[in-house]
Amino acid sequence: MNGRTSDARDSGREGLPSHIPGTVTPREPLGEILKGQKALVTGGTSGIGRAVALALAEAGADVAVNHLSDSEAVAEVVDALEAAGATALSVQGDVSSEEDVERMISESCDALGTIDILVNNAGIQKDARFADMTLDEWNDVIGVNLTGQFLCARAAVREFLAHGDRTEVCAAAGKIIGISSVHDVIPWAGHVNYAASKGGAQLMMKSIAQELAPYRIRVNSVAPGAIRTPINEQAWRDRDDYEELVRLIPAGRIGEAEDVARAVVWLASDHADYVTGATLYVDGGMQLYPGFSEAG
Ligand code: NAD
Repeated sequence: MNGRTSDARDSGREGLPSHIPGTVTPREPLGEILKGQKALVTGGTSGIGRAVALALAEAGADVAVNHLSDSEAVAEVVDALEAAGATALSVQGDVSSEEDVERMISESCDALGTIDILVNNAGIQKDARFADMTLDEWNDVIGVNLTGQFLCARAAVREFLAHGDRTEVCAAAGKIIGISSVHDVIPWAGHVNYAASKGGAQLMMKSIAQELAPYRIRVNSVAPGAIRTPINEQAWRDRDDYEELVRLIPAGRIGEAEDVARAVVWLASDHADYVTGATLYVDGGMQLYPGFSEAG
């Protein structure tokens, strides 16, 4: 029986507009499949990152939660992790800054002993029509979504190589899970910087996976479709916008952060020990050309 609990399993209907079906509940407990493992989640104070941190803790991991500048939100997440039985801490830092990332990893390792799992979650959108997109809008998104994943992955890999096999807690020497997007394969007009960052992260992930598989380091991505978080609130808050969005999703509902978190836990666990260089789409079928379901 799993000794840890998490509110990630049952976010319920609280605060949900009536047109959104909400999380599919009840769900099976995760079980302590990450017991004894140490994780760092970037951008862990909201949306997918928060749900991932809670699910990792429910699965038995201790968790360092990165935040950019939201000390109140990160304190709430750390409290929730501790309430679930985990050792938890917050690590402030900008993932696009090399200096911050080196400090974040070293603070996490000092507090937890090492890290076994990195979840590269932090991400931003700065949308503009292509002809109007500024260089700053391009650089900011590439800086966080692509360079940020590179800097965090490199620092984590150095730690994995330094500690080597951790057979007492898991089969691999380390695991990296990048939060990508269906827009690592679906072009997205008006979001060229974002699609380029996620497409780049996809091949970066596969290349790192190829290089590091001999060292028993596994590198994978989870690619969400439309997930109900603050990043895309304009697409689900109003009924009309929501209904237009759902036309793109064969499963007929927006995803919840817990849908993504469960896939991350599985990829991080020994259940996925032979999985590396893979992208797991958690998107209700969004990348299956839904327009063809009736018009093909
Ligand atoms: P969110 O806005 O709730 O979360 C993004 C997090 O990243 C925030 O906590 C934010 O503070 C943090 N962050 C931003 N810049 C940072 C920086 N420089 N350093 C450290 N942290 C930083 O949105 P979300 O939907 O939970 O997004 C999480 C990830 O999921 C992102 O990578 C996003 O691209 C991806 N994603 C989301 C969806 C969706 O539908 N919500 C779909 C596909 C992919």
